[in-house]
Amino acid sequence: MVEVSYVNKLLEAMRANRKVEKLLDQKSKIESELRKIRANCNHTQRSIKQVPRGEGMLTDTRWVCDDCRALVGYPTQFEMDKFFNK
Ligand SMILES: [Zn+2]
Repeated sequence: MVEVSYVNKLLEAMRANRKVEKLLDQKSKIESELRKIRANCNHTQRSIKQVPRGEGMLTDTRWVCDDCRALVGYPTQFEMDKFFNK
């Protein structure tokens, strides 16, 4: 029985691995779509937004294009203070 559960765990791990590969594949397709859209955007409408930094819970404050959501710049301290209503 020990061997059976070992095989099951292995199969489970393989399934999880395939799922991850599928997700990463979708992610890279989505990212290349976004790149194309952003390359064709003029970023005329911009707002200051909180954007996630990496994969953690931290955020950065950036000027973001309203149309394509590309990061288009860093707010000045004055703009930041205004954004955070200081
Ligand atoms: Zn844009």
